Amino acid sequence: MVKYKEKFEEQKVFIDGEWTTSSKGDTYSIINPSTGKSFVKCQKCDVEDTKRAIDVARDAFDNGPWPEMSIEERTKIFYKVTDMIAEKAWEISKLDAMCNGVPVLEHASMTMMLPAHMRYVCAQAKKLVEPKKVSGEFPLDQKVWREPDGVVAIITPWNAPFGECMMKLPPALIDGNTVVFKPASQTPLTTLDLGKMFEKAGIPKGALNIITGPGPVVGVEMAKNTKVDHISFTGEGITGKEIVQNALGNLKKVTLELGGKSPNIIFDDFSVDEAATAAMIGGYFLNGEICIDGSRIFVQDTIHEKFSKKFVELSKSLKIGNALSLKTNIGPLVTETQMEKNLKYIEYGKDAGATLLCGGYRPREGELKDGFFVAPTVFDNVSNDMRIAREEIFGPVLCVIPFSTEKEVIEMANDTTYGLAGAVWTHDKERAVRVARKIKAGTVFINTYHMLTADMPFGGYKQSGWGREMSEQGVEEFTQVKSITADWSGLTKWLMNVIISH
Ligand code: NAP
Repeated sequence: MVKYKEKFEEQKVFIDGEWTTSSKGDTYSIINPSTGKSFVKCQKCDVEDTKRAIDVARDAFDNGPWPEMSIEERTKIFYKVTDMIAEKAWEISKLDAMCNGVPVLEHASMTMMLPAHMRYVCAQAKKLVEPKKVSGEFPLDQKVWREPDGVVAIITPWNAPFGECMMKLPPALIDGNTVVFKPASQTPLTTLDLGKMFEKAGIPKGALNIITGPGPVVGVEMAKNTKVDHISFTGEGITGKEIVQNALGNLKKVTLELGGKSPNIIFDDFSVDEAATAAMIGGYFLNGEICIDGSRIFVQDTIHEKFSKKFVELSKSLKIGNALSLKTNIGPLVTETQMEKNLKYIEYGKDAGATLLCGGYRPREGELKDGFFVAPTVFDNVSNDMRIAREEIFGPVLCVIPFSTEKEVIEMANDTTYGLAGAVWTHDKERAVRVARKIKAGTVFINTYHMLTADMPFGGYKQSGWGREMSEQGVEEFTQVKSITADWSGLTKWLMNVIISH
């Protein structure tokens, strides 16, 4: 495994079991968003490098040992990697924090759950190995088998780099697929590290290939290349749509985890303090750079005024700082571009007439000087048709929208092109479940937020995506279903005789 100091040396890519440079020797730098300074170089692969990695994965699937290995053999390799992840959890969290600016403790809260996730994935994959027998209503021997898709291309975003990688890579690999993986350009370090762990654990050459480089070059080729059987993508909706178009050539399977603009609904049986805490939990995790962010906070009008006062007080108390500091609650946004995007949406909010209660600026004092920070920002009296309520901002910019009735809030919650997640906060259990069932989204929380565990399916309705990750569905997602029907009874022969004799 790589030593910590080597993280800051030029990173290579992993193709056919070798750590190598891009064919043209091109590299790019990663900038730490907390300091604005570059700290490591990565390989800038091009179309030729991408084709090579795909060819290797194709050959490893068609002729290599990985798909033929028993689930027990594959699990043995996975368990070695699981131990390495457990041992390195803190280091992984620090590296991701350096690349994307999310506070290190928040990364750690996710990384620490991943060894259990790996074990869960292995257990689910084992269940898929044996064929399923069907009803037995017919005098035939009929079984349904699960088989790997083949070559899987994986593309991930920057907001939770190791977590996103773990939602896709373990299920794809354990099912017997071979993989070409492209992490987001800004955050590839921990995915490359995972490659080192699999290498050390003894994964056969070519089963896992990790390349880095620009999405519009490397990612486009992965989507277009007809030797790829399945592309699994997490990122923005607009990129997802382009992937679908590029994947048409061989009609490869496409799995999409896209954006969201999730409703976080708070009823007035919650105290003002509870309500403000609910909004904080839903809105500021990962600096608000999370697809399920509770960015539309619907508050019942009877507590609205007091709620807003408390919510602003709590938002102002958040400590803004370097993502590596244990005291930091809000780190910098991932890049200067992402910071500028947030500041632009703040202007849209002001222009549209929403009330800016706090934040709305780039803090630059002291150690924040060169980082890409945006102060926690709360807009009040937002209307659901404003741009800030309809489009994904992906940062600590939150909208408070008052409502009066359950019917009204359900209508507003669903009045969005997205359908990824949502939450309901109330002590009334019947109402909670009733509202949760009415929200058109793949994941709904009641009196909690961001609690995603390995055994619950995750994915979106509407324009938030296709398919599911995590859970048994997430492991099945990387397999094909094959029906094998055998006639040992002579039925077919008897039928033929009947037909011929007429
Ligand atoms: P993005 O711009 O779509 O990029 C995601 C990945 O796609 C990156 O690896 C990127 O490479 C690559 N890419 C860019 N253009 C491409 C193209 N034309 N063809 C193929 N790949 C291409 O998204 P992002 O800004 O990194 O991430 C934020 C978005 O991800 C938000 O919309 C968020 O909601 C969504 N997200 C969804 C989930 C979920 O599970 N539903 C989870 C996390 C994030 P480069 O880095 O080289 O540009």
